[in-house]
Order: sequence, then structure tokens, then C-alpha cells
Amino acid sequence: MTVGRYAPSPSGRMHLGNLCCCLLAWLSAKSKGGRVLLRIEDLDAARCPRRFAGLLEQDLAWLGLSADEGGSRGGAHAPYYQSERSEIYRHFYDILAAKGLLYPCFCSRSQLHAASAPHRSDGQVVYPGTCRGLTAAQIAEKSRQRAPAWRVRVPDEDIAFTDGHLGFARENLARDCGDFYVRRADGVFAYQLAVVVDDALMGVTEVVRGADLLSSTPRQLWLYRTLALPAPQFYHLPLLLAPDGRRLSKRDGDVSLERLQARYTPQEVVGRLAFVCGLQNTPAPRAPEDLIDSFRWDKVPQTDICLPEGLF
Ligand code: GLU
Repeated sequence: MTVGRYAPSPSGRMHLGNLCCCLLAWLSAKSKGGRVLLRIEDLDAARCPRRFAGLLEQDLAWLGLSADEGGSRGGAHAPYYQSERSEIYRHFYDILAAKGLLYPCFCSRSQLHAASAPHRSDGQVVYPGTCRGLTAAQIAEKSRQRAPAWRVRVPDEDIAFTDGHLGFARENLARDCGDFYVRRADGVFAYQLAVVVDDALMGVTEVVRGADLLSSTPRQLWLYRTLALPAPQFYHLPLLLAPDGRRLSKRDGDVSLERLQARYTPQEVVGRLAFVCGLQNTPAPRAPEDLIDSFRWDKVPQTDICLPEGLF
């Protein structure tokens, strides 16, 4: 059975890009006769207050895209809030530690962004390995100054995969990603580890998410393999851009759910989104169920989608 998921980080109200991702995740799973679960990615609990998670569920219900499992509804894989799953992450973190793959990193943010570190196309820094070879004495000394974050040592290996929507992709872990965080200095486990563990343990078979996370996929596939967990099929979506080409963000009040709800019916929002995603030829109002039978990934554009002026 196909199991899709929504994995929002509710640091604010959803915007159109988030909605679009939810709609396609829902359609992709439902068109295969599957179901969808909701996992709240509130690892950074201070930035993701529970009330936003509650609003998000209301917004999904308003659109007709409620999840079949998870969130406040609960289910067989509870808890569905990452802030309540630290003990689960710890187990897998310990497996990485037992394999000798983890090391403490004392670099500050400003050190990491210093000129020498190469920047990836997505704006992230490839870690130059500064703390990779520290001796036990150096670690003890530095630990007296500050608590370390923990990185996982990646091999010099190409990870190739076929994205269900964007096709073939390949990255060299050492060169293009570098050793990455699995735990922050304050003890919170990092997104890359949590998302892999959760999707595997929750039985997720397909991950639909924005193309901004395409570059995380090789790291995650390597973690799945290293932790002997089953990997899902990935589908990365083009990003939705404002009519002037800006990237949408939760701060852009102009496309927030609040404003959409004041202006449109849920079917009007879904119909317009389906139109910009290539799923129908006009922006006519549609209920999500009406789009299931004709849904195909090859209708969806592969490059960023600029919202037509005046559509929303
Ligand atoms: N929680 C992430 C976000 O809201 C999504 C993670 C994922 O889909 O893998 O951006």
C-alpha cells in the first residue's frame, strides 16, 4: 500500500507553496489507492508552537486534504510530533556512533561561513572537515569551552537516484555535501536524521516535497542504507514563485491561508493550484477527489512555477 506524508514544520501559517505540496502529496498517494499521514516536524519546538500545528490541520481539513493518520488524530505510529520522538532518534544516533561514524564539531556558525568553505548551489556550506581529525586531548580541551554539535562522517562516494518527477540525480557525498550534522549542540537531533528515521518507521513509501530539498536526498539515502532502513521513492516538486519571481515564504502575507480563506472557497483554491500545476486546463473550482483519476506526475512542470498575476 502506498503511504505518502505531509511533513510540515509549522513555524507559521501555511502558504501556497506548502498547500501545493500537500495537494500533490495527497493526489500522488490517492491516485495509487494509498493513504497519507501527517507528521509535525517541530524539532525546533520553540520555533514551531503547537497552535500552528493545530491551524495547519484546520487548513488541511478546510481544503479537503485531511491526513488519514497522524497529527492530533494519532495512529499506529504515534507520536507524530518530532519534538516527542527524541528517544527514537537517540537509538539510531547510537547506531551511527557505534559504527564510529560520529565526531564532535566545535565550529561556530561564523567559522563555517568563513571565506574558505565552498558554497553549494543551494546556499549551504560544504563542511571542510575542520573537526574531523581532532585528537581525544583536543576534544577534551575544546569541550571545556563549548558543547559540540555532532557530525556524521560521509564517504567519498557518489549517490545516484531517480527522482519520480525530476529524473536522474547524482551527488558525491564528500565533495558536494560534506560531513553533516545529526545533532545540534543543544542536544536536539537534526532534520536529516529525524526525517529518515521517521519516514522509515512510519512506513512511508513515497515522499513528495519541494525541490529545495532535492540536495538533501543523497545524504538521506546514504543514512537509510547505513541504518539498514527501507528508503521511500522521492518526488521533488518545482517551487512556486510569486508573480514577480520571488520565492514564497511564510512571511509573505499576500498568499497566506488567512487571506485565501477570506477570498475563495476551498474548491477555488484547489482548482487554481491544479491549474498552475498542469493538472487541469483552466482554473475552474475543483474538489481534490475530482483530480485523483486524471492525476499523473508527467503533467506537472519540472521547472519553477511562477504564479500568474492576479490568479490568487
Ligand atoms: N519539514 C520540512 C519542511 O517543512 C520538510 C521535510 C521533508 O519533506 O523532508 O520544509
